[in-house]
Amino acid sequence: MNIMATKPLILNGRSVAGEVLKNTVSEIELFKLQNKRIPGLAVILVGDNPASHTYVKNKEIATKNIGIYSEVHRLQEHTSENEVISLINSLNLNPKIDGILVQLPLPIHIKTEKVINSIDPDKDVDGLHPYNLGNLMRGQKTLTPCTPQGVIEILNHYSINISGLSAVIIGRSTLVGKPLSILLLEKNATVTIAHSKTDNIQEIARSADLLISAIGKPKLITKNWVKPNAIIIDVGINRIHENNASRLVGDVDYDNASSICQAITPVPGGVGPVTIAMLMANTLKAAQQRETKPANRGA
Ligand code: NAD
Repeated sequence: MNIMATKPLILNGRSVAGEVLKNTVSEIELFKLQNKRIPGLAVILVGDNPASHTYVKNKEIATKNIGIYSEVHRLQEHTSENEVISLINSLNLNPKIDGILVQLPLPIHIKTEKVINSIDPDKDVDGLHPYNLGNLMRGQKTLTPCTPQGVIEILNHYSINISGLSAVIIGRSTLVGKPLSILLLEKNATVTIAHSKTDNIQEIARSADLLISAIGKPKLITKNWVKPNAIIIDVGINRIHENNASRLVGDVDYDNASSICQAITPVPGGVGPVTIAMLMANTLKAAQQRETKPANRGA
């Protein structure tokens, strides 16, 4: 890549997603011919979080567009933990279902860990079950969390070689920051994770050749946080209300930080669409793996 670029390269997540989905569709066609069935995804949504409803709707549309069977279970806010787990138990045994995704966050009376742990690891298309996270940690092929895998897909798509580079991830969640740190290590980056308790966070961010933000704070990251010519991946999705209108922005102040960086993902149109594409790819992968492990298939 040209490190002297004057305007940043826009890392277009819609293009990356389009390519992932194109490949997934042709593999689904082959899967159908070989196995006389289509891959299936079940999504569970508990409660009334408007952002979660939008994400689930987008996932449902994606499955329809690429020919994956889908079921969405929309449960009321007061649904008990046991009810959610017994639904998961039945989906674990359902032969039509290859992937189960529980939309997070769950209402506070439900323990996320208990729910995730009840998913059959072979159907854990969000890659959050301890079995899959453990495999990821050991560098073994496994179902990998969709958003971190999406970030890697963006880097690969644009042939950005991060071997030897300094990568700083801001945010240490199990959903994004922690698994992403492992994937970046696998690509030979030198990885630092910063978070809400990190001292001198701007200085640490400014040391990054690759700066990734997964915080959930609108436009927090300005050019003062960015090393000249850095590559920025903005995972954050935040809804803001300005001038009587509402819109989505990332954690990065895009216009401000663009003036100094080499490449940047926009919000919307960056990591978001790639995350959904990776979910489709993971559902197909889970279906393929189940066909080669018939003993694990449900009744
Ligand atoms: P989370 O709330 O679980 O974690 C947020 C992390 O940010 C924490 O580790 C916290 O320590 C850190 N943090 C919070 N405030 C900070 C500050 N002021 N300075 C430094 N660090 C701070 O969130 P999450 O689930 O990891 O999601 C993070 C963001 O990414 C959210 O905006 C979410 O909507 C978005 N997200 C996007 C996608 C996608 O597909 N693009 C997928 C998942 C999450």
